[in-house]
Parts: sequence; structure tokens; C-alpha cells
Amino acid sequence: MSARARSYNTEGVILRRRNLGEADSIFTVFSPREGKFDAIAKGVRKPRSHMRGHLEPLTRSQLQLAQGRNLDVFTQAETIAAYRGVRDDLDRLTLALYCCELVDRFTAERAAQPRLYELLNETLEGLDAQAPLTVGRSFELQILAQCGFELQLSNCAICAGPIPEQDTLIHAAAGGLVCDGCRGKAETGRILSVRAIKVLRFGRTATIGQFAGLRLEESLESELQRALADAIRLVLDRETNSGRYLDALSQPLREAKRAAPGHVQSSTPPSI
Ligand SMILES: [Zn+2]
Repeated sequence: MSARARSYNTEGVILRRRNLGEADSIFTVFSPREGKFDAIAKGVRKPRSHMRGHLEPLTRSQLQLAQGRNLDVFTQAETIAAYRGVRDDLDRLTLALYCCELVDRFTAERAAQPRLYELLNETLEGLDAQAPLTVGRSFELQILAQCGFELQLSNCAICAGPIPEQDTLIHAAAGGLVCDGCRGKAETGRILSVRAIKVLRFGRTATIGQFAGLRLEESLESELQRALADAIRLVLDRETNSGRYLDALSQPLREAKRAAPGHVQSSTPPSI
């Protein structure tokens, strides 16, 4: 924004931090009106810094900034939501940081995306309130759609013909589902089950809260995770660090869950 005042207020979620010199840090912030931007917090790593706890990654804070020659400078920060329920759980923390990384990677500097800001906060609030980790799939679906990469799930992504209710190829490079007739034109891809397709279609319009109400069995969740990871990776053109970490982490967790006695999941999503 070229017309910003010399000093301005905004709320924002801290996406990441990198340290500078002995006591300063640069924070990447995602805000509803300013979009994504970097700003510097001077002396924030000193023990007595009054902004120290309010600029941690994942924190939603009210911020005051002064325009700087290169980078803007934080002059005040006050936490709106610290999302402690997310920080106290490694799985939730990993997923939340992954969502922040996707926002960072999918957005351009200083481009306002208020709906994406809302989506990020709804997701963080959901995770904080113990929503199932499957809300990550809803986040992926919606960030793809909001940033211009919506998966084609109603018709064939190649010929726009109808998709019968059957297991169907999903091809990230084509942009979504591919009908039997076009399958030869898609070099790679995954076969998605009818149930997975229904969940994805539901997730296109569902809120994070509605998606959190689905009870997805493990195999279905893995199917969705792989299909969406393909689409995300294609857009980013390389795997995100958190994405790789998430994959590495989820494998032993799945094994641990399987080994746990009395681990039962209902099989049918209730509302689709
Ligand atoms: Zn087709």
C-alpha cells in the first residue's frame, strides 16, 4: 500500500520469525487489510522486551507499526489470541505451522486477502478448540480455491464432461477429476474413491466447523491427504518443509494409533 500513513495499526497473525543481529527479529505478518508483510521488532529478543510474547509465530495480535525506510518497525504489539491449545499439542502445532507456511507461500506481499485471513483464523480457532486434524484438508481445499487453483470436482478437468458416481482419477496437473474417456491424456494421478470425492465436494463449501463435524476413517483421510498434497505441491512447485515434516510425522502417529487398544473410528461421514 503506497498510501499508508507513517504510523498505522492492524491486527495480524504472525506467520514466521527470523532473527537479525543480536537482539532484533524480522516477523512475517498476515493481516486482513495489509496482506502479508515483513516488519522488524527491535530489541525483541532482550528479556525485558514488552513485545516479546506478543510476536510469537501463530499468535494473532493487534499491532502498531511505523513506516521504515526498508522495513516497517513494530512499535506496539498486544496478543488477541495465543492459541495455547494448539501450542500444547505437537500434532496441532505442526498442522497450524503448516497452514501458516501455506499462507506465506501462496500469498504475495501487501495484497489484501481478507477471506484467507478469516480462513486461517477459523482454522487456528478450530484447532485450538480440539477440532480433528482433518480440518487441515478443508484448509488446503479452500486455500487452493481462494488463490485461483480450485480443484475441478464437478466435471472432467480436461473435457468438462460429466463425472459418473464411481471411483475416478484425480490429476493435479489437469486441475481435478478426469473422466474415463480422458484418462489416456493424464500421464499420472491417483484414483479417488467415491467417498473421497464426496468429502472434497462437501469441503468446497463447508465451513471449518462443518468439516470438523465429519468423522473420517483413517484410510479415507489418507486418501484425501495424498490427493490434496499433490495439488498443493504442484502449485508450490516443490514440497514445503512443513509438508514433508507432516508426512514424516503422520506415519509413526498412524502406526501408534493402530497399535492402541480400543481405537475405533466411525466410518461414514454424517452429513454427506
Ligand atoms: Zn474428460
